[in-house]
Amino acid sequence: MTKKQRALEVIERLKKEYPDAGCTLDYDQAWKLLVSVRLAAQCTDARVNVVVEGLYEKYPTVEALAEAPVEDIEAIVRPCGLGKSKARDISACMKMLRDEYGGKVPDDFDALLKLPGVGRKSANLIMGDVFGKPAIVTDTHCIRLTNRIGLVDGIKEPKKVEMALWKIIPPEEGSDLCHRLVYHGREICTARTKPYCDRCCLADVCKKVGV
Ligand code: SF4
Repeated sequence: MTKKQRALEVIERLKKEYPDAGCTLDYDQAWKLLVSVRLAAQCTDARVNVVVEGLYEKYPTVEALAEAPVEDIEAIVRPCGLGKSKARDISACMKMLRDEYGGKVPDDFDALLKLPGVGRKSANLIMGDVFGKPAIVTDTHCIRLTNRIGLVDGIKEPKKVEMALWKIIPPEEGSDLCHRLVYHGREICTARTKPYCDRCCLADVCKKVGV
C-alpha cells in the first residue's frame, strides 16, 4: 500500500466514523476564530470557548478590541495561560485588521501569516474553515497520528509534516481530515494512554509505528 492509498483509505474511514467533525472552537465571524486560535495555544478549546464569551461581551467588534487596553485583554484571557503574549498578539492583530484590511480577515495565506501571532497552523485553519480553501492543519494530534499510521515517516516538525501531507492528500480533503484526526486523537489514538488499537477503525491499514 502506498502512502497515497493509505491516506485515501484513512480519509474514507474517518469520514464514516466522524461524519460531522468540524472545528471545536466556537465562532460566528472570521476574526473571532483568529482570536480563539491564538488563545488555544497550550489551552483546551473548551476553555477558550468560555473565555471568549467574556471578551466579546466587552469588546464585540474588531475595532473595539483594537482599541482595548492590552492589560484589560490580558486580564480576561489569563485563564487560557500565556496571558501577556496572547493579549499582545490579539491586540496587535486586531489593530492590523482594522488599519490594513478594513476590519476583515484576508483570504490569502501569506497575508494571514503576516498577522501578529498567526503561524502556519492558524493560517491553514482559517483558510480551510472560514474560506473553504485547501488546508492542512498540523496540530499535535495530526502529527502524532500521521506518524503512527505511517502517512509520514518520523517527522515531528509541523511545517515538514504539512509539506509531506500535501503530497499525498487531495487538497480539498485536508481541512476535514485534520478535524477528524483531532477527534480520533482525543477518543482512540490517544497521547497520554496507550492508543485503543483494538477498537480503532483504522487498525488494519495503520502501521502502528511506535505503538
Ligand atoms: S490502529 Fe492504533 S495507532 Fe493506529 S490509528 Fe488506530 S489507535 Fe492509532
